[in-house]
Amino acid sequence: MARVVVLGGAESGVGAAVLAKVKGFDVFLSDKGQISDNYMETLRKWDIPFEQGQHSAELILNADEVVKSPGIPSTAPMVQQIREKGIRIVSEIEFASRYDSAKKICITGSNGKTTTTSLIYFLLQNAGLNVGLGGNIGKSYAYQVATEHFDYYVLEISSFQLDDIYEFRPDIAIITNITPDHLDRYDHKMENYVAAKFNITRNLRPDDCFIFDSDDEITIGHLSNIVLRCKMLPFSQEKEVEQGAFVKNDRMVIRYEKEETNIFLQELALGGRHNLYNSMAAALAAKATGIDNEVIRKSLATFQPIEHRLEPVLSIKDVLYINDSKATNVDAAWYALECQKRPVVWIVGGTDKGNDYSVLNDLVKEKVKGIVCLGVDNSKIHAAFGGLGIQMTDTGSAEEAVRAAAGMASAGDVVLLSPCCASFDLFKNYEDRGERFKAAVRNL
Ligand code: ADP
Repeated sequence: MARVVVLGGAESGVGAAVLAKVKGFDVFLSDKGQISDNYMETLRKWDIPFEQGQHSAELILNADEVVKSPGIPSTAPMVQQIREKGIRIVSEIEFASRYDSAKKICITGSNGKTTTTSLIYFLLQNAGLNVGLGGNIGKSYAYQVATEHFDYYVLEISSFQLDDIYEFRPDIAIITNITPDHLDRYDHKMENYVAAKFNITRNLRPDDCFIFDSDDEITIGHLSNIVLRCKMLPFSQEKEVEQGAFVKNDRMVIRYEKEETNIFLQELALGGRHNLYNSMAAALAAKATGIDNEVIRKSLATFQPIEHRLEPVLSIKDVLYINDSKATNVDAAWYALECQKRPVVWIVGGTDKGNDYSVLNDLVKEKVKGIVCLGVDNSKIHAAFGGLGIQMTDTGSAEEAVRAAAGMASAGDVVLLSPCCASFDLFKNYEDRGERFKAAVRNL
């Protein structure tokens, strides 16, 4: 019996282990950290042997194949030992796709993945298709392949999950955009990060579609160096495209094959320039799946904003509080500031991932009346914006930040949590940061 060893005992790893078990492999799962109770329960339920707190070489290096969770960097010593032994390492999506014949719409990119993925899932559901949602959202793809049967999957895929794929092939691949992020995992080389994202296109065939942002210089730059033999569907807010989506006056125009569909921008449920990109990408994916124009229009008009992404929380004394805790990089915060029509008190800060804040300078000057730093080390934010003559203060908790922001805001303003940074200095994760922000707002 072939032996599959899974490294990493969270959503993706446990899903892969369950699928390997269902497919009759001799499975073993190893996690160097602690496995959470719910995942241990799943492993026991499926009778899958596992270890935690260590990687035992003798139980791992006898594998025929290793499925590596995306959270484990390729520089980890055990990963290197596995490579040295010549054992093939694949990602969970590579492994799962071998056992799945559903049509797959796969979304990657630096920002907008979750929003675009959720929009497409909503569209396919509204069209009455038998569709699963997975990848970075909800249940792992492998677990669903093991336990469900879907005709379609909409999968959100991070660049880490694309690192170890070989045969994995989406029917529709989407790169929402590419801006610097996670460079620490790519030798601080932008080209490595871009190449990892473009891995999503490597097996596309002539009938498959590639949907991409043709206003994005990094995407276009990379496309000029490679050859893709598939249907190319760009989306743009700057120019008309022959096939794809673009903006003309007050409409989004979708051109697919010989048909042209128009949707009034006013009809779109999600506001902001960034969400217009996401809506265009989703509409193109829906067209390429053969979904009716009326379903596309209605779905884009009724989709509800997702938690922690420009999520309106409450209006108190005519100050609107917005939770954009998921804005963990500069580009996401740029779009959040860009779409604000009212003066902004901006809550920013956290774990800096090598941010260059200078791209925000003009927007901050134009829109921001007060800055509330929320982080352990706020020195880079002070260095970037301290000279602009905007009032600034430092805080160390969501409650403190909300109180300080409320003090700076007056009727007609917006208090925007759009931190530009990861959350791990003061919070468990971005959800925790968003929840605490919302609770603090409700307690005002
Ligand atoms: P991801 O899953 O790629 O992190 P999300 O949809 O969760 O993307 O959004 C993350 C953050 O980026 C949010 O702050 C959101 O408002 C912002 N955002 C969403 N779509 C885009 C886009 N197309 N371009 C830039 N920023 C975006």
